[in-house]
Amino acid sequence: MFGAVNMRGGTHMQRTRVCSSAAIAALLTVAIGGATAADAAGQGADGDAGGAKANQTIVFVLDGLRPDSINARDTPNLLRLRREGVNYLNSHAVVPTVTRVNSSVIGSGSYPTRTGIVGNSMFVPDVDPLTPFSTGEANNLTRLDEVSGGRMIFVKTLAERLAARGQTLAAVGSGSSGGTLLLNPRAPRGVGYMINAGDETQTAPFAYPESIGEEIKQRFGLPPSTTGQPNANAKVDYAQGILRDYVLPELQPDVILNWLTEPDGSQHKYAAGSPEAIAAIRNDDRQIGLVLDRLDELGLEDDTNIMAISDHGFSVHDFNVNLSQELVEAGLKASATSDDVVVANSGSSLVHVKDRDPAKIRAVVAFLQKQSWTDTLYTTTKQPSRGRWVTDTYGSVKPRGWVPGTFSLELIHQANPERGADIIVTYPWTSRRNAFGVAGTSGKAGGGATGPRSGAASGHGSFSPYDIRTTFIAWGADFKNGVTELTPAGNVDIAPTVLALSGVNDGLRSDGRVLREAFEDTDRHDRDAVRTRTFKTRAGDYRATVTISDIKHGRYRYVDKSARDRSAR
Ligand SMILES: [Zn+2]
Repeated sequence: MFGAVNMRGGTHMQRTRVCSSAAIAALLTVAIGGATAADAAGQGADGDAGGAKANQTIVFVLDGLRPDSINARDTPNLLRLRREGVNYLNSHAVVPTVTRVNSSVIGSGSYPTRTGIVGNSMFVPDVDPLTPFSTGEANNLTRLDEVSGGRMIFVKTLAERLAARGQTLAAVGSGSSGGTLLLNPRAPRGVGYMINAGDETQTAPFAYPESIGEEIKQRFGLPPSTTGQPNANAKVDYAQGILRDYVLPELQPDVILNWLTEPDGSQHKYAAGSPEAIAAIRNDDRQIGLVLDRLDELGLEDDTNIMAISDHGFSVHDFNVNLSQELVEAGLKASATSDDVVVANSGSSLVHVKDRDPAKIRAVVAFLQKQSWTDTLYTTTKQPSRGRWVTDTYGSVKPRGWVPGTFSLELIHQANPERGADIIVTYPWTSRRNAFGVAGTSGKAGGGATGPRSGAASGHGSFSPYDIRTTFIAWGADFKNGVTELTPAGNVDIAPTVLALSGVNDGLRSDGRVLREAFEDTDRHDRDAVRTRTFKTRAGDYRATVTISDIKHGRYRYVDKSARDRSAR
């Protein structure tokens, strides 16, 4: 079935036209900039795929799809792709395991340390001096872009790097407006396409360029409302219709990042394994089957590489921590709305201390290490000085943070000097099963009272393997056929792999790696260089561990899990 043919039939003329407009966009992008100095000092070691057979790549991102949800009954199309392609068993979300952290990673190939998108909820005083904002709202990201001098995200994006070589990326999403925008954050500046099909309120930008938005609305109507429905299937269907009948045949982008917002919403409400979530997963699979059919109709199936992934896993919530309130009651924060210590919650908590005050950071950590609901803690490797960090972000980072009993933010790719938190706090997780027999529970940060939770409400954001482990399938002419791959991989590797498949070798550095072991035409693999290590830390009675898999002596690091050691006394 992999008789790859580089053929687009009568569509070639149109394709050429699209490419030249992309080239113009690329020139605009160069003028705008947006890359950091570190970005420009890349190593260019990744290279291309050495003559890829397929001309197009589609990345399906199924929001929150656990790999154990794939089976013959519910997901025949995904199962087919998994059997015929490369199935990564050891794949990783980026921590904290929330959606927008991972959508920005997918759209850039860089970690939060360099992207500056550190949470679903982010505290940036120039945006709001007192309160974190949601990165799910595209309008908040636009504001972030304004106050950051055009640096919503600090690195060159996948779309920009493709555009610089005359190739086009389209982000098509049925999730939050912010999540879709972070797949192509420079779309508002003329780079590629973005279609945000998930916003029924139409308060966020619908599409870039705006002209395609008008055309889509005329032909497909407005995004449907899913209020009162058990899932957002109607939004998924709407977005996938636009993909099949407009994006694929008419826009003809070289790369498509296609975000399917379910089963995230149904799992949040009803838990993984619930009938509602399974109905949403079945619908996703049906929609992916329709895209495959459409590719076949267009003569593109053999010309398309497909990656089917998820941004994070899922677990049922068994405990809530109102960290802001806890800190106020402990006398470590002046009030719920004070700016001396600000807590941004992304399942785990990102704690920002005013002026990066070392004494306050140490006091907050000491308090947290005494609380039974705290799991693991992260601070920078070096103590902040005069309100600034000196970070150590590449190579062999020190595993422990400067405060005793913490691990380092550098180790987990969360040491962003401008937007990063001073402390990251995680909450305990277990392997207990939920009411539907699906393993994995976690504590989480949120409003309301601190204490146990029962019921189906679920989520992600923890450092549990049930939240970290993702679905990761690579299929198509340029990927191996029927391989199960144990080498660690993750969302950070998607952009560099797509760039390699697209023949882009621009010398810029990606944090992720090219998944060469999955390529059809190579025997090369990094399996022998894989190392999994568990680091320990302690402060008095408090002890914790974090497990990291790495490749090439720490150049590529994946966070497997972290946990407090509660047996220690
Ligand atoms: Zn998500």
